[in-house]
Amino acid sequence: MSAEEFRTAGHRLVDRIAEFLGSVADMSVTPGQSPSAVRQALNAEQGLPESGADAATLLDRAAQLVFDHSLFNAHPRFWGYVTAGAAPIGMLGELLASAANPNCGAWLLSPMASEIEGQTIRWIAEMLKYPTDCGGLFVSGGNMANIVGFLAGRAAKGGPEIRSKGVDGRRLRAYCSAETHTWIQKAADIAGLGTESVRWIAADDGFRIDVEALRSRIRQDIASGDKPFLVIGNAGTVSTGAVDDLKALAELCREFGLWFHVDGAYGAMAAGAPEASQLFEGLELADSLAVDPHKWLYAPIEAGCTLVRDVASLRDAFSYHPAYYHFGVEATNYFDLGPQNSRGFRALKVWLALQHAGREGYAQMISDDIRLSRAMYDAVSRHPELQALTQGLSIATFRYVPTEVDRSDQAGDEYLNKLNQELLTRLQQGGEAYLSNAVIGGKYALRACIVNFRTTLEDVESVPDLVVRIGRDVHAELRQRTAV
Ligand SMILES: *Cc1c(COP(=O)(O)O)cnc(C)c1O
Repeated sequence: MSAEEFRTAGHRLVDRIAEFLGSVADMSVTPGQSPSAVRQALNAEQGLPESGADAATLLDRAAQLVFDHSLFNAHPRFWGYVTAGAAPIGMLGELLASAANPNCGAWLLSPMASEIEGQTIRWIAEMLKYPTDCGGLFVSGGNMANIVGFLAGRAAKGGPEIRSKGVDGRRLRAYCSAETHTWIQKAADIAGLGTESVRWIAADDGFRIDVEALRSRIRQDIASGDKPFLVIGNAGTVSTGAVDDLKALAELCREFGLWFHVDGAYGAMAAGAPEASQLFEGLELADSLAVDPHKWLYAPIEAGCTLVRDVASLRDAFSYHPAYYHFGVEATNYFDLGPQNSRGFRALKVWLALQHAGREGYAQMISDDIRLSRAMYDAVSRHPELQALTQGLSIATFRYVPTEVDRSDQAGDEYLNKLNQELLTRLQQGGEAYLSNAVIGGKYALRACIVNFRTTLEDVESVPDLVVRIGRDVHAELRQRTAV
């Protein structure tokens, strides 16, 4: 491709993306198409082209396919899972990163990119009030960020020669609340401990780990010859946004000599927002901490980040020095700090966005999301056919309850669960708004998690009518089906 051809094709593409950004609020959240319809639009059966084609034409078709057949998490009414739209400056950052294409495994191969990664890590630490002399690195997302922290804990507390001999027979045990994200299972599996090494501790009424139950389980395990090595604190659980008592967990870890890992993939960024910062006391004591810039920092996917109090703990967990690597400079070589070898320039998009909005801008956007979530919870509470269930950080959960069904009668839950499940399927396919689900004490709940800088109060207040409209339809149909 000539420079001139690149310029023309690139300008066309940027125009098309700008058009998308200007109109996404008026689009459907999702086309709600079946897999076969999407495959057909793609012409998925077509084989590999024999000869090449014009770049601009290819990009036109790609843009059309993507914009016509995607779910848009950039939509102001997208509130599913913990998934954010991308900051536009991050999109441009991705383009620039791929243009220079540094290999951020080694400093010599990525001088400026490696330094930008280091600065971004320090800025994130500053935002979270985590020590800024911490170590850390970018990874693909929250799962990987947590797994890296878990492996650092395993190397630090797993006993001598664990990296060379493996975990065989060591009976290592990890502790977390029952509300913990499923990454812990992958981590225990990948780390060779097995999923049965995970001790799921009961949560209290506020969905926070029961610290006394945790303490007695640790004592019991020690007494029976197991080796506790790590405790996970949740800084924003994925279902309800609960934040564990991080300070108490840090103290307990000190008492028993355990590694303290905090999963802040969803919530930790709220530590920088006055609306919620007091919840995160003790976060600064974590030995390792997972955060997820592709959530509340609005980096285009993928961008996760692990922070550690002491950078040596990452080297101790990951570094090897084969003969074919020689990088004779005194600087951070990121391949030493994590599982990856060649690494992309993920930090750039985050570095740009942090400066574009500034600390204040982020504090404002995150506080807005928390307030909007509370407003949604209030709006839902006011509607006689909706039952508000939980509200924490920027997550609200609730369910549709027809007027003639007694919401306090647990026997009715089976029907209500089925009703709300079907309601959610229809709402997700309808494209007017997007929610996901949670199960709250056996109740199937609709769940809205606002990590969305485009959401307005009007968007949030539209939720009760939308949900009730679909709920009534589904209820009527289900009733008819049982009558027949
Ligand atoms: C999102 C999330 C994860 C997983 O992060 P990915 O970026 O999806 O890999 C882990 N823990 C919590 C609390 C999360 O919200």
